Amino acid sequence: TPASVGPFTVVLLGDNGVGKSALASIFAGASDSMGSECELYGGEIFEQTITVDGERASVTLLDTWDSQDEGSWTQQRCLQTGDAFIIVYAITDRSSFLRASDLRVQLRREREVDRTPIILVGNKCDLVRCREVSISEGRSSAAVFDCKFIETSAAMQHNVWPLFEGIIRQLRLRRDSM
Ligand code: GDP
Ligand code: MG
Repeated sequence: TPASVGPFTVVLLGDNGVGKSALASIFAGASDSMGSECELYGGEIFEQTITVDGERASVTLLDTWDSQDEGSWTQQRCLQTGDAFIIVYAITDRSSFLRASDLRVQLRREREVDRTPIILVGNKCDLVRCREVSISEGRSSAAVFDCKFIETSAAMQHNVWPLFEGIIRQLRLRRDSM
């Protein structure tokens, strides 16, 4: 087997409560049900080697955004050091969707070279009756901000691995084009 590539640093961004830690815990391989995830609060870093398209990649996932002060030096540092970003909103919370756009703008300001892979994620897509942001709004926002888009449900474990695999594919494309 070929040696793994990376480690890639992937940063989770988004409003409080949108499901970043829930996504991170799936990434971390936690098999616990949603009920016990409170134990994971407080800012964490997960390392994982995963195989995508037959190639191993080692990924460091940062779920530290909420534990840092708004606009702090550490948040700024987070935006500067990530190799890729996952910007999460909840489809049930329009303000988190607007916040995701703000984050995209902020990210663009922090990063000079704009070839950094970014995925906009509409999480909680299982909560269909509480939907405040349509799929097409999510999709067009991603198009405007030149990033990929996916809807996920951490609760149902729907589209969560495609999300992480997508980020790794983007990171490889970028690597291969350098
Ligand atoms: P964070 O603040 O962005 O880290 O959000 P959390 O991961 O802590 O999730 C906030 C709340 O939303 C928790 O009560 C989770 O159980 C819940 N949650 C997270 N993802 C989903 C999801 O996909 N569907 C539903 N129904 N609830 C979710
Ligand atoms: Mg969290």
